[in-house]
Amino acid sequence: MPSEFDLIRQFFTRPAPGALLGVGDDAALMALAPGNELAVSTDMLVAGRHFLADADPYLLGHKALAVNLSDMAAMGATPRWATLSLALPAADEAWLRAFSQGFYALAERFHVDLVGGDTTRGPLNLCVTILGEVPAGLALRRDGARCGDEIWVTGSLGGAALGLRHLLGQEVLTEAEARDCLGHLHQPEPRVALGRALLGLATAAIDVSDGFLADLGHVLSRSGVGAEVNFDRLPAHPAVAARLPLDAGRQSLLAGGDDYDLCFTAPPVHADAVSAAAASLGLPVTRVGCLVAEAGLRLLAPDGSPMVWESCGYDHFA
Ligand code: ADP
Ligand code: MG
Repeated sequence: MPSEFDLIRQFFTRPAPGALLGVGDDAALMALAPGNELAVSTDMLVAGRHFLADADPYLLGHKALAVNLSDMAAMGATPRWATLSLALPAADEAWLRAFSQGFYALAERFHVDLVGGDTTRGPLNLCVTILGEVPAGLALRRDGARCGDEIWVTGSLGGAALGLRHLLGQEVLTEAEARDCLGHLHQPEPRVALGRALLGLATAAIDVSDGFLADLGHVLSRSGVGAEVNFDRLPAHPAVAARLPLDAGRQSLLAGGDDYDLCFTAPPVHADAVSAAAASLGLPVTRVGCLVAEAGLRLLAPDGSPMVWESCGYDHFA
């Protein structure tokens, strides 16, 4: 039976070139580049709530880090370091190997060093803290949106939620649709490069983790503005678009979580620069509406009439 320390050494100790001191001491040591602020965020994934207990460990390793990188993207921050706290029911080496491979594969792509964590026995629970840096005063906060700004969305919406419906047997997807939607669900691609490119262009940003309407709603309430969103401009994932007359399609598009695309606001004067930045990254961006003085979020049908929508995003305590 390997000890806790054997497991840490075997699976979670690799060189941390971006840190002064990585895994193995009482604390890790890092230095921020001059002129930067520290951005910190934590996301916990709980078995039975955020993923099924028999989920593929490689994909879990990816997702546990990806959802945290996405928070850095939504701040316009560059992720630099991460800590990983694990509660494990057993010291399953095959599981740990696959999990750490999924985690490190993504970490290496984004030049993020794993610098510490905690490992304990308990019900399966994965908690990553991400640390990043952002030029002082420039972070993309939720409270910076202004009346007259346009609302943008990267990538597409609803694919992950539709994939989850498929997994739960609530929706029947074609094989190709299932592959693509489950890719969105299990291996979201954090929009870090675009977030960084939006510094100085966007006024506010959030990553779509709880559902488009709910997450845009957070920006609106923090910024003290309202919004008009054109339903037919929303970039529905193709499998979602094919189901838009149905509740499953609309729910996935408007209230489906787990997409990890960005929703951001920018003044019209920056529209061309936003498009150019996204184009240079090969990432589609779509303008879906604008911010108005009147509080609340109004969803508009193609003819400009208001659409009624009640259910919003995911709330763990609702
Ligand atoms: P302490 O007793 O100071 O809490 P631990 O024995 O928990 O230290 O951990 C030993 C070292 O291993 C520390 O540097 C800690 O940050 C690191 N560590 C523990 N678990 C993990 C993990 N899952 N991933 C990365 N580093 C870890
Ligand atoms: Mg400890």
